[in-house]
Amino acid sequence: MGTPCLNWPKQAANKLYRLQTPTTPLFRPVHHDNVRLDDFAMGTNAIVAVISYTGYDMEDAMIINKCAYERGFAYGSIYKSKFIELDGASFFARSPHLPDLNKILDNDGLPHAGTKLWHGCPFYCYFDVDTSTYKVVKLDEKEDCVVDSVRYCGNFKANARRMVCVTLRIPRPPTIGDKFASRAGQKGICSQRYPAEDLPFSETGLIPDIVFNPHGFPSRMTIAMMIETMAGKSAALHGLVHDATPFRFSEKHTAIDYFGRLLEAGGYNYYGTERLYSGVDGREMSADIFFGVVHYQRLRHMVFDKWQVRSTGPVDAITQQPIKGRKRGGGVRFGEMERDALISHGAAFLLQDRLFHNSDKTHTLVCSKCGSILAPLKKIIMRSETGKLQSMPDTCRLCGDGTAVGYIEIPFSFKYLVSELSSVNINARLKLMNI
Ligand SMILES: [Zn+2]
Repeated sequence: MGTPCLNWPKQAANKLYRLQTPTTPLFRPVHHDNVRLDDFAMGTNAIVAVISYTGYDMEDAMIINKCAYERGFAYGSIYKSKFIELDGASFFARSPHLPDLNKILDNDGLPHAGTKLWHGCPFYCYFDVDTSTYKVVKLDEKEDCVVDSVRYCGNFKANARRMVCVTLRIPRPPTIGDKFASRAGQKGICSQRYPAEDLPFSETGLIPDIVFNPHGFPSRMTIAMMIETMAGKSAALHGLVHDATPFRFSEKHTAIDYFGRLLEAGGYNYYGTERLYSGVDGREMSADIFFGVVHYQRLRHMVFDKWQVRSTGPVDAITQQPIKGRKRGGGVRFGEMERDALISHGAAFLLQDRLFHNSDKTHTLVCSKCGSILAPLKKIIMRSETGKLQSMPDTCRLCGDGTAVGYIEIPFSFKYLVSELSSVNINARLKLMNI
């Protein structure tokens, strides 16, 4: 997220991700200024403490200071433009018969800029000339949003009041599950908006905006992020912006030494570390904590667009297994690797639960004599010509009699496989025990 364009009132892009209060990085290469990247700011300067704290920063998780969040840290919005075109001679107009519409729609049947909308609320109203009725169209957005602008489009004389562009603004404050990254490519998911009073604090009372786990450094070797931590800190300290252009430092004149000396001159530790105090009990921590300013970006992958749940729902017509797809209410695939994981743990009942009971379990006939699941026919009760109820017993079309016909529970996909095999002249026989 960032500043994709500067013509907010005029743009009509399908979807834009905007950062509300971006700041300029304190450590950047010359190209940043050459291409005037400050005009399209893309991130926020965060106070970062490199510490393993609580466990909510394990692996690639990241703790965000709740106070920083409340101050608007990394607040973003999505701008969506919708083009509405009416057929024939129909035109936008608010229905006079529905007084409730007045709260949301203007006389022209459209919401005015600034109106708050929600899922299923009236979005616009028009007069359908063909049926001579007013029609109200509901908003299909899943989230609450605000109307940013409403514009009539096209040739005004020819298409007057028939084509409109409505831009909606969807607020997206940072939430648990949203993605962030430093410019070194250290991406992480917000795992908690941690109360500031419980976070560690420095001797000057500074509380980090972001808690970054130190285990992210050794394997990824993002030395640039460590240099940035020190450079950012010294830049903030001395009111400077540091040059991050490659090859400006050498083995004799190292970046670490340069920024270390600047930090020292400002009264800080040469290595960029600080004494921190536990936010929980106030005790001084025995380890020195690497603490500084890093330019963080908010990435466009947000939980709201990705979350997926299913209890029961639609199934595939052929396999009778749950369908896939987030939009269609499908399930999350429990694939081969997941299956192997459960096998390796000996979790047989969980495996059966996932792959059978909660999937394509079917109750079907089987003949234990010939082992076929396709040949047996169900017992049916029918009315004879004389009007009497007549019962037809279970029969097996292979054996001729139905004495050995019973029921079994199998995955439907197995039955489907047997049917497909029969179509190429392969007969599948089951060996059944204790039927
Ligand atoms: Zn049979």
